[in-house]
Amino acid sequence: LAVRGVQALSPYQPGKPIDELARELGLNPADIVKLASNENPLGPSEKALAAAREALSELCLYPDGNGFDLKQALAKRFGVDMSQITLGNGSNDLLEVVARCFVSSDSEVIFSQYAFAVYPIVTQAIGAKGISVPAKDWGHDLDAMAEAVTDRTRLIFVANPNNPTGTVHGQEAIQSFLDRIPASVIVVLDEAYCEFFEGEDAPDGLKLLSRYPNLIVCRTFSKAWGLAALRVGYSFSSPEIADILNRVRQPFNVDSIALAAATAVLDDEDYLQRSREVNAKGLRQLEQAFERMGLPFIPSVGNFIAVDVGDQAMEVYQSLLKQGVIVRPVAGYGMPKHLRVSVGLPEENEKFIQALEHALDAVN
Ligand code: PMP
Repeated sequence: LAVRGVQALSPYQPGKPIDELARELGLNPADIVKLASNENPLGPSEKALAAAREALSELCLYPDGNGFDLKQALAKRFGVDMSQITLGNGSNDLLEVVARCFVSSDSEVIFSQYAFAVYPIVTQAIGAKGISVPAKDWGHDLDAMAEAVTDRTRLIFVANPNNPTGTVHGQEAIQSFLDRIPASVIVVLDEAYCEFFEGEDAPDGLKLLSRYPNLIVCRTFSKAWGLAALRVGYSFSSPEIADILNRVRQPFNVDSIALAAATAVLDDEDYLQRSREVNAKGLRQLEQAFERMGLPFIPSVGNFIAVDVGDQAMEVYQSLLKQGVIVRPVAGYGMPKHLRVSVGLPEENEKFIQALEHALDAVN
């Protein structure tokens, strides 16, 4: 019954909830370590929790469909005008809304090999043609992506940093890429993991907005801000593009609890700082362990890292599962030897490292 593009879709495979897995494995949920969905291991910010609790008293009312308070807080923090902001039910929602606004069934949409799985899904759902450009050193080959533009190209997705590879391009590389893209093509810079990567060369799509009217920068509260369950994403663009996106999104796409918690967490600088510190330390802990074990890994700037565990990656994954450690196989991304592991708390990382050593002994 479904249209052709939809029939050909491979669905996004989310990680299973811990309780369900614990039941399947016959383990106590408390003994399970889930490092599979790039979630924040700190637990939610106290400020966000308090605001969410308060919002519960208004459950019978529709949320503010314009998200005024959150937009105002975002505008203040990032120095943009509220008219440049679009809110989404997670940034996934925005990726889909962008595709619905700018792509039709005779269009082409460009993304990179090994890039985030939702790009081909939203493309195919519209019946458009996805152009997957071969990666370079696991990251986006921006030159090849610019060369792939044809007169049918309407949209390009660039994940920076990328999931699942953790690769990133600096500001200059992004800017020279944008210089090569015709203004008639929308470019989505997906910066879901940008908060984890600081420093001089850290890319920042926001700084490019005034120069490139075809640019949309997407971000999320799911990662460094620790609100994945609430589904809040946001985009910055020209007011003209935001106006289009806001016409097409569902009128109440972000609920009141999510709006309240996201607005409150923007005030919790301490939480953001702790997220960054725990992540940076955890990444080092994992890298050092991989080096010790002689396992190649893709250096990552995100809150996850892809490690090459060899041809028997699925057996390693299963062995980890049996030991109560959940990571993410990435064979579906065309990376059959890698497993992606999210950075956890030090003791969670340690449990994963020990389980991995055991798993490798068992399969080799
Ligand atoms: N972009 C990238 C690159 C991601 O990895 C993710 C989450 N896995 C998202 C967007 C979507 O995040 P959310 O919908 O939770 O905002």
